[in-house]
Amino acid sequence: MDEESITAFPLDGTVESQPNMSETVQLDPEGDAVLSIKGSDGDKSYLVSSRVLSLASPVFSKMFGPNFKEGQEIRRGDCPRISLEEDDPEAMGLILSILHYKCAQVPLAMEPKELATLAMHADKYYCNEALRPWASQWCSNMKEVTAPEDHGFMLLAAYMFRSPSFSEIASRAVRQLTPNFASIWEKHEELALLPETITDTLSDQIAGGLRELHQLLQSTEVRLREQKACHSMYGLICSRCGRTLPGEAKKCHPCCNTDLLTKTCTSDHRVAEYFETLTRCELWPSLKPFTATDLSGIQERFQYARGDHKHLCGAGETCPLVRVEVHDAITELVHHVLCILLNFQ
Ligand SMILES: [Zn+2]
Ligand SMILES: [Zn+2]
Repeated sequence: MDEESITAFPLDGTVESQPNMSETVQLDPEGDAVLSIKGSDGDKSYLVSSRVLSLASPVFSKMFGPNFKEGQEIRRGDCPRISLEEDDPEAMGLILSILHYKCAQVPLAMEPKELATLAMHADKYYCNEALRPWASQWCSNMKEVTAPEDHGFMLLAAYMFRSPSFSEIASRAVRQLTPNFASIWEKHEELALLPETITDTLSDQIAGGLRELHQLLQSTEVRLREQKACHSMYGLICSRCGRTLPGEAKKCHPCCNTDLLTKTCTSDHRVAEYFETLTRCELWPSLKPFTATDLSGIQERFQYARGDHKHLCGAGETCPLVRVEVHDAITELVHHVLCILLNFQ
């Protein structure tokens, strides 16, 4: 199959008299109908096989059937020219090319918005089944999605294609969308085609996940306060300036102070250290991160907090501060959130 066959060709005598013929893409050299789609840079036309399109799409099957004007013209041996007024020329061009096995220039990965547009057309013409291998390729071969609306377009595409990748795309959206995503989606009218239950479920999952993580942060503080045991720590503290000095120091030189206190890991000390770590990792003060950050961002900060704290005391691994299993709890929680999502398609 040569590449020229998907570019513009003059048509045979049957249809040469029609307008704009030089623009016509000959998808089937022996085609029996011309589909014309309005675009911003002029109309684009395709010489197609009514039989192929009828097999792929019940909408075309009806149009080319004996009860419709177009179908009757084909049966008379005329080549009807059908204008698809409301369709997107790029999306329909790809769909028609695929259905006629002209796939050399069909991209293996698509931008989310283009993919959503294509999926909407596939849904309109009920030709999802014929496009299934391509839909699967496009939905699983996602480019890096960062913009909130792009998560929406990917979800819309997967929804319209009835793709098995929907759950995975939804899980990723829950992890990466900030709680205000719906107000951004409202600016893109196509995204209103997503059922409200999907948008609401995403909102609930994101808000619920953040709420649970926030509660975890707070309950950890309570747990640390409840554990009263004290453990010795390496180092001494100057009673005058509060500096921490090596365990063998005899005096704080800057203050000339010899009144040095043994450093102790107490409940208060552990809580203070916990909040210092949270502050360094931008999890405290907690109002902003837990209302304006996506779940994966919060998870990363918790992971960072886990690696960041260097507490060392006589209790070793059994010190309550070291035993705080925030990281594991987070992993479990995020996993839990995702499991709920997998069932929401
Ligand atoms: Zn001092
Ligand atoms: Zn300790």
